[in-house]
Order: sequence, then C-alpha cells, then structure tokens
Amino acid sequence: MLYCEHCMMLCDPDCVKCPDCGNRGLRLPKPNDPTHVLSIEALWSGGIEEILAQAEIPCLKQRARGTVAAIIIGELSETYRYFVPFAALEKSKELLCDFIDRDGADDMTEFDGEDECSGAGEHHD
Ligand SMILES: [Zn+2]
Repeated sequence: MLYCEHCMMLCDPDCVKCPDCGNRGLRLPKPNDPTHVLSIEALWSGGIEEILAQAEIPCLKQRARGTVAAIIIGELSETYRYFVPFAALEKSKELLCDFIDRDGADDMTEFDGEDECSGAGEHHD
C-alpha cells in the first residue's frame, strides 16, 4: 500500500500517482498517518465516534466535499470523512463494518418519510 499525504488515503502499491489528486509523492504509510477509513452521513457520526472512542482509536473527522446531491438535499445529507491512524485501520474497519451491518446504515441514503429516532444499537444482554 502507498499513502497520499494530501488526501490521507491509501492507494494500490502499483500506483505512480494518487488516483484522487494526482500527487506523485506517494510513500509507504507510517503507523501514525491518518488514513481514510470511511465516509458516512452525519446522522451516523455519533455511533462511529462512540465505537472508535471505546476502542481507544483516535479519529479525525472532516466534512466531505459537497456533491450535487448534497446541495439539493441540504444539511440532511451532510457527510463526514473519518480518518484513523494507519496502524489502527484494519481494526477500525472491522468495528465499523459491524456497526454498519448491525444498524443497516448502508441504506442510510434512503429516507421515505419515516421518522425513526430510536436508540438502535443499545443492546444489553
Ligand atoms: Zn491524493
């Protein structure tokens, strides 16, 4: 894996430049490099931060670049990009995939008028 300092993203090892920004100064990631782990709607950001905090993984949050859809829909579709240290990337992905599977956050872009504000995810055995 190669790392783009500009985008804080990983690229395939055979990339000569970053597919996103065209940066040719790709290098090997260091354990503390902030690395993009996922982009998710602001709605889910609380859960994401909680999971990372519980796992003691420091994270960095950035507002994603606006898209046409975001401009049309407005604040509701605001998206955050999360970055974690490269050393914690695999662990973070694992934790966050579980979270997304469990809460069905993958269809988070579809709202059909349902006003669901339940405390989903609070399971006590
Ligand atoms: Zn880049």
